[in-house]
Amino acid sequence: MAGSFQFPNLCARCGHAEPTTVWTLQSVHSAHGSAATVHTFQYLDLPVCASCRKSMSVGLWVTLALSAMAGVAAFFPSRELLAAQGLPAPWIGVAIAAFVGLVVFTGCFFILKPFTAREFAKLPPGGGTVVFDNPEYQRQFDALNAPVPRYRA
Ligand SMILES: [Zn+2]
Repeated sequence: MAGSFQFPNLCARCGHAEPTTVWTLQSVHSAHGSAATVHTFQYLDLPVCASCRKSMSVGLWVTLALSAMAGVAAFFPSRELLAAQGLPAPWIGVAIAAFVGLVVFTGCFFILKPFTAREFAKLPPGGGTVVFDNPEYQRQFDALNAPVPRYRA
């Protein structure tokens, strides 16, 4: 769970006034300990305008569709290849091919996403702040969420 913040009345992505909807920023942090790796999931709804929300969700669907195509494209040749290996049971080849497809799908998704559906903000570990790509939004956000009032000489 991310901290609670006050947001300027601007789209967090393009900076247009009066954002009408939200985009849920998802962030995963992995802490590697000696016994286990702990993944912390954080979600934060950011105010955005309707057109930014649309371009983000279109980007995400494009990413999913392209990754799914790559996964399927990896599945069929793998299955053919494994079917020719004389495995003890045919389902083993199908299971391995499905796994290969899944790995390709996941890999493509994370490789493509920074290009096709680039997130416009980040949640650094600790959840104390949000880092925005838009410098003007960042300035206004920081002014609203400063932990202590800032005094200028
Ligand atoms: Zn916008």
